Amino acid sequence: MNLEPALNPRPHWAELLGDVTRYAIDFLEHLPERDVSGPVDADGLRAALGGPLPAVGGEPRTVVRQLAAAVAPGLVSSTSGRYFGYVFGGALPVAVAADWLTTVWDQCALLYAASPAAAVTEEVCGQWLVDLLGLPSHASVGFVTGCQAANFTALAAARHHVLADHGWDVEARGLCGAPVPRVLVSASCHASVGRALRLLGLGGQIRQVPCEPSGRMRLDAFRAALGDTRGPLIACLEVGDTDAGQIDPIAPVADLVHRYGGWLHLDAAFGMWAAASPRYRDLVAGLDRADSWATDAHKLLNVPYDSGIVFCAHPDAHGAALRIGAEYLGRDGGERDPVDWVPEVSRRARAFVLWATLRALGRSGVAAIVEHACEHASRLGALLAAADGVEIRNEVVLNQVLVSFRDPYGRDDDLHTRRVVELFQADGRCWGSGTTWQGRAALRLSVCNWSTTDDDIDTCVASVLTAHHRAALAGDRVLL
Ligand SMILES: *Cc1c(COP(=O)(O)O)cnc(C)c1O
Repeated sequence: MNLEPALNPRPHWAELLGDVTRYAIDFLEHLPERDVSGPVDADGLRAALGGPLPAVGGEPRTVVRQLAAAVAPGLVSSTSGRYFGYVFGGALPVAVAADWLTTVWDQCALLYAASPAAAVTEEVCGQWLVDLLGLPSHASVGFVTGCQAANFTALAAARHHVLADHGWDVEARGLCGAPVPRVLVSASCHASVGRALRLLGLGGQIRQVPCEPSGRMRLDAFRAALGDTRGPLIACLEVGDTDAGQIDPIAPVADLVHRYGGWLHLDAAFGMWAAASPRYRDLVAGLDRADSWATDAHKLLNVPYDSGIVFCAHPDAHGAALRIGAEYLGRDGGERDPVDWVPEVSRRARAFVLWATLRALGRSGVAAIVEHACEHASRLGALLAAADGVEIRNEVVLNQVLVSFRDPYGRDDDLHTRRVVELFQADGRCWGSGTTWQGRAALRLSVCNWSTTDDDIDTCVASVLTAHHRAALAGDRVLL
């Protein structure tokens, strides 16, 4: 029988992976000089990647070469130290290396029996993280794709717990006829918190609690929203909001929520890591008093996608909400099965990457990566604030800087700010995204990369100010 080239049972690993190593090195070594954005031709990408699926397959080495060439014009250098978009982390070398091996080993982090190495690595990383972040030592841990999945998992545990306290087994009985929980969500919470609640059938119960001008949730408004709550209660706070990096008042809210027998969940995608730095730890005082936490490793910790983590101070509720009892899995229950703590069944063994990263950084390295990002952000904010017509909108507490611009000729500032964002993005040296914050247009700059240097920050300032001046000169004319 003629085998398809891709199905050769004795592939030439050395040649194939040798090619891949060269492509990877070429990408990574040129990253520091490369523009981080530029014009992308979507039709060009479609032409290079598209066409009908060939009837007959190709040689793996050829196909991988074609893939690398076809996607190159559409790759974003988001792991560059000059990329300040969204809250994208970079990828530490040790993490990239461990991630490659994770793919090669292709372990299914489902059950202990499916991969004892993956299961025990999760256990060890879970203990390290709980300790590093100062969470209760008995907290349960799940390794998921990102903070969205972590929010979902944590809030499933919350739903179980608060309804069980009111005599209702939600896993067995569903939500019809259940006691109706009050769900108080800080207005600064990320959209993924709302989506998690929606998926859990609690979308209709959400009450948004307004924020102060700084972006922190108002404690008085939270107290008022609590009212005379007697039934089940879930509260969600933001620890580092995606725009301003603000941290809601954790300790006083924990007091209130627990007085009413409720559950406090923290969305802490990147803010969580402040707890690992002696210098920034006070910002998240009271963090350990929540009932659940959702965070990302692919942001400030700088591991490659995708890597999120959920922690829960009530392992029983966490297990009750997520555990599945499929007989075919043939479990003996002797060891921790990863599947019981996450909403997925088959998953890549992403804890290998965390293990290598945490081991390579150590406690001081994790603190350094957080401090590096926050100090660069603070310097970036200070340099921009010193320029005419530039306003830093947020208190730069963590790694986020929000900037608005005044049109020097007194025209519309929002229009001017949006033009600055466009010109800054088109310049290519750096990249940040636009947003509207508290009703006004702004440029969002997030320092989230281990490799960002002082020079990169200076380049960013120069690029932003050039865009500001060009936008002012161009006035109403179309620029791009
Ligand atoms: C990024 C982010 C999320 C969503 O996390 P994913 O990893 O993209 O799923 C949630 N909350 C905050 C504050 C974020 O910054």
